[in-house]
Amino acid sequence: MSGFDTLAIHAGQEPDPGTGSVVVPIYQTSTYKQDGVGGLRGGYEYSRSANPTRTALETCLAALEAGSRGLAFASGLAAEDCLLHAALQPGDHVLVPDDAYGGTFRLFARVLSRWGLRYDAVPLSDLDAVRAAVRPDTAMIWAETPTNPLLAIADIAGLATLAREHGALLVVDNTFASPYLQQPLTLGADVVVHSTTKYLGGHSDVVGGALVFNDGDLADALIFHQNAMGGVPGPFDCWLVLRGVKTLGVRMDRHCVNAERIVAMLTSHPAVDRVLYPGLPDHPGHQVAAKQMRGYGGMVSFTLRGGEQAALAVCERTGVFTLGESLGGVESLIEHPHRMTHAAVAGSELEVPGDLVRLSVGIESADDLIADLNQALG
Ligand code: PLP
Repeated sequence: MSGFDTLAIHAGQEPDPGTGSVVVPIYQTSTYKQDGVGGLRGGYEYSRSANPTRTALETCLAALEAGSRGLAFASGLAAEDCLLHAALQPGDHVLVPDDAYGGTFRLFARVLSRWGLRYDAVPLSDLDAVRAAVRPDTAMIWAETPTNPLLAIADIAGLATLAREHGALLVVDNTFASPYLQQPLTLGADVVVHSTTKYLGGHSDVVGGALVFNDGDLADALIFHQNAMGGVPGPFDCWLVLRGVKTLGVRMDRHCVNAERIVAMLTSHPAVDRVLYPGLPDHPGHQVAAKQMRGYGGMVSFTLRGGEQAALAVCERTGVFTLGESLGGVESLIEHPHRMTHAAVAGSELEVPGDLVRLSVGIESADDLIADLNQALG
């Protein structure tokens, strides 16, 4: 069993040994009967440490990212927080993208800086700039590719080589691409981060996070910290993500096709100034994206000739595209990053332009999506 879609449906999801249930049950329990003191059945003693529904999800995610181990968390940020505490020491230095999810940047800037973490924001799409920014105490390079919301592309294999040369870890937030489009561990990354809230869950009905990595000392530290810090998801949330993952491949194919049609419409629309999409041949990261991604994804950003007011008006005029934060669900969403998802980075080096609109292109009929955007653009 090695095909992506087969793994998505079967990895970690053997029929239930007790009942034959084809679908992994929601083991809604906090504790487990022991057969004598310390006599655990299947290794389960308490659901913060492990739960069978969570184990199924963690096994499946590890298989999809071609890693040896996966860990599930209550949110993407809980996964990130656990990783940073497990992999770093107070005083360590980290390179972060100069364009990243605002909540990730806030974690570095307002939470872990109080713990003594130091960071510099660099354009990770520029390997020379990254090389120049690495310091002797740089312990980690944190990459997002494509980035949220500007869709910049970082060369994962190039960053992995650079990180190895300097004894630093390479972390890749693979939320935007999903493992169907890109597998960072196979390109040399040490840890993959996900907000499973997005494409992995795929239906805008659950918040979750995950880490995937290979065996070794870091793996032991991550497993220890997941239990010690306790930011784990409940069994029902794990089940929702697991159900979403089964259709990841077919959903991603449709997200990509719909996004490409919308990009074609936007690039020729007079109200649109710039379209940011790694599938466009003139996107600065296009060659790297073509090398490391199977498709260019369902996220599209664009700027308006009319500036911020025009961007706000478009966001408020769509009907099929719902105005809302988040991304990666079957339904299309539109948002204004400067005032919504990236409000946390206003005034920082990560501030995003006010004339920018971000689309999470869903899997509805492309003609309806295009008609909706056309009427919103006026
Ligand atoms: N990483 C990226 C790229 C995101 O877009 C988000 C959320 O939008 C996160 C991480 C954080 O995930 P969560 O909201 O599940 O905590």
